[in-house]
Amino acid sequence: MPRITVPAADALIDQPITVLDHGFVRLVDYLGGDARIVQAARVSYGEGTKSVREDSALIDYLLRNHHTSPFEQVILTFHLKMPIFVARQWIRHRTARLNEISGRYSVMKDEFYRPRDFEVRYQSTVNRQGSAERAVPEATSSKVMAILQDGQARAYADYEELLSDDVARELARVNLPLSLYTEMYWQIDLNNLFHFLRLRLDWHAQYEIRAYGDAIATAVKAVCPVAYQAFEEHILHGRSFSGTEVEVLLQALDRDSLEAAITETVMRKTRRAEFLKKLDLDEG
Ligand SMILES: Cc1cc2nc3c(=O)[nH]c(=O)nc-3n(C[C@H](O)[C@H](O)[C@H](O)COP(=O)(O)OP(=O)(O)OC[C@H]3O[C@@H](n4cnc5c(N)ncnc54)[C@H](O)[C@@H]3O)c2cc1C
Repeated sequence: MPRITVPAADALIDQPITVLDHGFVRLVDYLGGDARIVQAARVSYGEGTKSVREDSALIDYLLRNHHTSPFEQVILTFHLKMPIFVARQWIRHRTARLNEISGRYSVMKDEFYRPRDFEVRYQSTVNRQGSAERAVPEATSSKVMAILQDGQARAYADYEELLSDDVARELARVNLPLSLYTEMYWQIDLNNLFHFLRLRLDWHAQYEIRAYGDAIATAVKAVCPVAYQAFEEHILHGRSFSGTEVEVLLQALDRDSLEAAITETVMRKTRRAEFLKKLDLDEG
């Protein structure tokens, strides 16, 4: 059986997708694609790929029913450049393998993250971890930019001075701020990458890591367009409800209008049956 290649993914390899002011996401390599998910899922039946429509339906079925292991057969490797504060959030995803630039070994570059004026934001009053929607006046954003720039320049000048005094790189770096850029190679399977994207594309995640999430999503779409579509449909744009929420929804639901709304164009037969079952409204 020939190695699975995906022309859109091949075209993206080694092409950095720019993120923030100095960062990027670069797809280094990939293993498998939509076809690998299908092969892996069908191995137990000794069947290969079928029609495009059947393969897409299978991928959608696997994803919406949490049959996750076939998605683990697809692997993506990235070269990433990001500020250290983004990297700290990133490496919490333990199911990946990574190698990061060593500040003990290398001299860190004079590259720091500064948000653009309109990305300066106030603290949220409702979410302790988040930022507010309301606009920041120009005078405030200019002040923020000036403070960041000044602090970064001073920190880097001190770093260079310590290096010129022959202080060890591992010690000279310790006052460099979280806005400094770092780089890593990062490898992860598609199932865990979807988990990463679910968390980091969500509006609760910090803007800066969401920007990287968008770039990673571009690469995933190139490698596995069908699986990514299923991920968008069932995970990214889906919602889960608590037991109480389900009860309230069921009490408010009018069964007849619901059934009338689920036409064949909205949902095919199997999914319609699954949906009604979820709502305890089996077709009988
Ligand atoms: C919006 C947001 C805010 C956050 N705020 C904070 C914060 O304030 N402080 C903080 O410390 N963290 C914070 N986090 C990080 C968060 O708690 C998780 O560590 C991070 O999202 C990684 O999720 P994960 O563990 O599910 O992913 P992964 O590490 O990729 O793991 C994927 C899945 O594998 C399984 N798994 C992996 N490793 C183990 C293990 N050792 N044991 C058992 N199961 C395992 C789990 O099922 C897990 O869900 C935040 C994350 C988000 C998205």
